[in-house]
Amino acid sequence: MYHKIKTREELKEIVKRIKQESKKVAFTSGSFDIIHAGHVDYLEKAKQKCDTLIVGVNSDLSIKQYKNPNRPIIPQDQRIKLIAAFECIDYAFIFNETNNNVNIETLKPDYYIKAEDYKTSQLSSKPIVEKYGGEVILIPIKEEISTTEIIEKINMLSSIDTIETYQNENIKVIFLDRDGTINEEIEYLHSPEQFKLIQNALEGMKKMQDIGYRLIIVTNQPGIGLGYFSREDFFKINLHMFKQLSPEKIQIDKVYFCPHTITDNCECRKPKIGLIEKAQEYYMGKIDLKNSFFIGDSTTDIKCGQNAGTKTILVKTGKAGNDSKEEVKPDFIASDLLDATKFIEENSN
Ligand SMILES: [Zn+2]
Repeated sequence: MYHKIKTREELKEIVKRIKQESKKVAFTSGSFDIIHAGHVDYLEKAKQKCDTLIVGVNSDLSIKQYKNPNRPIIPQDQRIKLIAAFECIDYAFIFNETNNNVNIETLKPDYYIKAEDYKTSQLSSKPIVEKYGGEVILIPIKEEISTTEIIEKINMLSSIDTIETYQNENIKVIFLDRDGTINEEIEYLHSPEQFKLIQNALEGMKKMQDIGYRLIIVTNQPGIGLGYFSREDFFKINLHMFKQLSPEKIQIDKVYFCPHTITDNCECRKPKIGLIEKAQEYYMGKIDLKNSFFIGDSTTDIKCGQNAGTKTILVKTGKAGNDSKEEVKPDFIASDLLDATKFIEENSN
């Protein structure tokens, strides 16, 4: 499989050689984030048109730029391995551009193959292909399967599960700050290696869940807005955290984060309640805020809980309330998340 993975420059020479043998070379491209049967049909049909099939795989950066800042799900090194493992594919390479013009100009394939949902007339690359005597071939797509739809289905199913279970009752939530409350405070925490759970955090969260509360994380992440780390880095840390929580059967329902900086003056940065409102919207207004808690290590967490109408607990971990940003008095002060459960139990309806 590895011998099929090349750079575009290497392929330029390989294509020249193949063409000298009077064999036909075809080129196509895609992001191939989560391979599905639609890809298989398409690529096999592409191979039927030629002797050698070369596939360009969009780099992570180019997908973020032209599709969605939160995609791809599968990183480029893995996507290209999957593509190279196809029997019908002869060569694969990664490219950074958001269109195929440079790929076509460099490789000059006999055929440039696209899925039929593109109108040939709208193909900006068509004149480039025809200029050197190449041909654009469109392949009809049999079934409408798309990675985006697969992802939407997963999201939809997970939300239905939650909403059905809680349709007829009020939901009690513990809103948790993340850094300094669950994990040790590190300024602009940006990699899983820096993530360390605070003592008793697991035990505390487990107990909160056992006595009937849903857990939702509400966190300010200005490091994203400041460019110190990416959304992707933030997601990786959360995934790392979930892996430590799941053996204990602790489930975080949702993670709401504000990626903005203080100067953005957004509606989601704590102590504003935009993120809690988002949670309330997701649970169709079923969150019983009066009987919910906000737990955090900073005065902005306490202020946020008060603004939203929850009970509040300051934990003496992380900043331990010494950030002096807000003049607030929490309902309770606890040494850590496990200690906090005492107040929750005593004040639980
Ligand atoms: Zn924000």
